[in-house]
Amino acid sequence: MTLHNIARAHIETYFDSGDFQRDLATLVSRPTESQDARGKPHLHAYLHDDMAPMLEAMGFTCQFHDNPAPDGPPILTAERIEDAALPTVLSYGHGDVVRAQEDQWREGLTPFELIEEGDRLYGRGAADNKVQHLINLRAMGAVIKAQGRLGFNAKVIIEMGEEAGSPGLKEFCAANSELLKADVFIASDGPRLRPAAPTIFTGSRGGTSFDLEVNLREGANHSGNFGGLLADPAMILSHALASITDAKGQIRIPEWRPTSLTPRIREVLASLPAHDTGIDLDADWGEQDLTPAERVFGWNSFAILAMSAGVPAAPLNAIAGSARATCQLRFVVGTEVDDVLPALRRHLDREGLARSRSLNTAATASPRHGWTPTTRWSALRPPRLKKAWGSPPTSCPT
Ligand SMILES: [Zn+2]
Repeated sequence: MTLHNIARAHIETYFDSGDFQRDLATLVSRPTESQDARGKPHLHAYLHDDMAPMLEAMGFTCQFHDNPAPDGPPILTAERIEDAALPTVLSYGHGDVVRAQEDQWREGLTPFELIEEGDRLYGRGAADNKVQHLINLRAMGAVIKAQGRLGFNAKVIIEMGEEAGSPGLKEFCAANSELLKADVFIASDGPRLRPAAPTIFTGSRGGTSFDLEVNLREGANHSGNFGGLLADPAMILSHALASITDAKGQIRIPEWRPTSLTPRIREVLASLPAHDTGIDLDADWGEQDLTPAERVFGWNSFAILAMSAGVPAAPLNAIAGSARATCQLRFVVGTEVDDVLPALRRHLDREGLARSRSLNTAATASPRHGWTPTTRWSALRPPRLKKAWGSPPTSCPT
């Protein structure tokens, strides 16, 4: 039997014996919410009690790090160096999850218990990102079991704040470049374009979240006495938001419009299979001259994540004192991350919306150029992966 077949047999036993499901159930049972203070103790426990023992059993040496950001969640790094002359692979995972939203789960499901229904498993964070790093670690474990070694050096970084904008991660990586140094970075934290086939993304888009706020005065004032006399923050905010795109969501801020959708990228995007999202997409939304794949992978998109003014659940006959929207720009290569908010400011000033101010609320991430497999990493080329997986993977540049 080849190494591939032996390692595959180990992984199939791991899955069929129920150990995979038990491992995932343990990880899901930790309520590792990073957007809510109640998750804090569990963020530590996930690294100390779940990840480190798993990695150490595979011969990794683990290190726990304080986050360089004030009050940021802990970070775990691990390495298994077999021979300094061998290439090194760096992998990544995040053990935190988004808010549990307990009241929004349908009957029979609950966030922190892995529940099997038909051929699916449900649980908060099961698909983002607990199962991905579990699979990647167990896959390495299967190779070690098959031949006593990996045949390469492996490094792993696991953070606990991705869903909160990865506080401190950039600073941590910059300060620990030697510790994280590797020949290639392979991580899993994204969707498959088609559930039936793996997808390889060779670059990444960036994202930044921010609050847009109009804060004019303390408290609310009676609309019968002050309507027509006091500027309405909710209305000013609505104009500011509406000025960012047209009525179809097409971005109007020139600096936010990408320049990197080259003919070559368009060609690659055109070859992607139809995006099987399971949701009816709105053909009349987004940049009108682009294909759906170009809109989502080759272009920037602006979203209003949440907004409020007054007390929506119990409105008063009053002009609110302030209004706020949490916004997000997802962007491709070519958009200057440091200029996203200054460009918005210039735009709002041009539009005469000086009373709107933007506040940066979450870490920004820079987009990365697509990576072309070189000879050294030809093992990752689709034909080789097709052999390993039995079906061809989909390659997406970003
Ligand atoms: Zn994720």
